[in-house]
Amino acid sequence: MTIIEPAEVPRLADNVEQAAPGELAKLLEFRPGQSFAAVDAESTPGFSGDKADGRAAHDLDNAVLKDLQERLFANTKAGGLKRAFVLVLQGRDSSGKGGIVRHVAGAVSPHGVVTAAFGVPTEEEAAHHFLWRIYRKLPRFGTIAVFDRSHYEDILVPRVRGLTPPRVWQERYDVINEFEEGLAESGVDVIKVMLTISPEKQAERLRDRIVRIDKQWKHSRGDLEDRRDWDEYTEAFQDLLERTSTESAPWYVVPADRKWYSRWAVVRLLIDRLQDLDLQWPRGTFDPEVELALLEKSDPRRR
Ligand code: AMP
Ligand code: MG
Repeated sequence: MTIIEPAEVPRLADNVEQAAPGELAKLLEFRPGQSFAAVDAESTPGFSGDKADGRAAHDLDNAVLKDLQERLFANTKAGGLKRAFVLVLQGRDSSGKGGIVRHVAGAVSPHGVVTAAFGVPTEEEAAHHFLWRIYRKLPRFGTIAVFDRSHYEDILVPRVRGLTPPRVWQERYDVINEFEEGLAESGVDVIKVMLTISPEKQAERLRDRIVRIDKQWKHSRGDLEDRRDWDEYTEAFQDLLERTSTESAPWYVVPADRKWYSRWAVVRLLIDRLQDLDLQWPRGTFDPEVELALLEKSDPRRR
């Protein structure tokens, strides 16, 4: 006889403390006047455990996120709810944006999530307003869109690379604020995450991309140029956070030297927003007794 053990349920060690989603959001939210450069990329605000604890916590949260997303979808389908979320991930090269996209997308139903990565604009994209390619990737109600880079690149890159006269990118702060406010008013909430990585950790990860065969496909010369312009980007991030942290769409600054932490934190930030909706399962508008009787009568063997 074979004895079948139940699958192991991940549990968090008793001594590990983690901030509740709402508390974590408050800890990580960018406050006007705060220094972006002063955020310790190695720190793990709101989490007291180590990597193994972080992974266990993340597994547990993934199940919560999956349930919440399903409730969101159900309420859209059967309750007329018109809400969707855009998770915007910004951060330097190798700060882990792609990994977070994969983790969030992998945690929820494939019907409930769309992903988009915004690289150097194609010829067609460049021939349009900078928000055109963003509009095209906005999520349906009931779903979550995860953006690897975003409309914010259209401020950062022209500024640091000097691609346009300053006036062009400077005007975009207001354009973006209005865009995001309009989205929020029509039910699409933007959750903005700025990942922060240390120069040492970035060197380690970029080096891996040069010497490791399974990572060479990720290497790009441009990343080394952006690294050289570290301070210019730091300044650009600081101004961006100051100018585009709004009530309807605040920024969260997430330390990203430890990938297990940033993944846990971002999922918790999403959970926080979804929990705000207090989503109950939509009840059917039928009489279950009547439907059960009909089910009984529909038995094909009774025909
Ligand atoms: P990766 O995310 O590593 O695939 O790289 C994408 C590259 O595209 C990065 O170097 C970005 O800075 C660049 N990029 C993304 N959006 C824009 C934009 N609007 N204008 C110029 N470069 C961009
Ligand atoms: Mg890159």
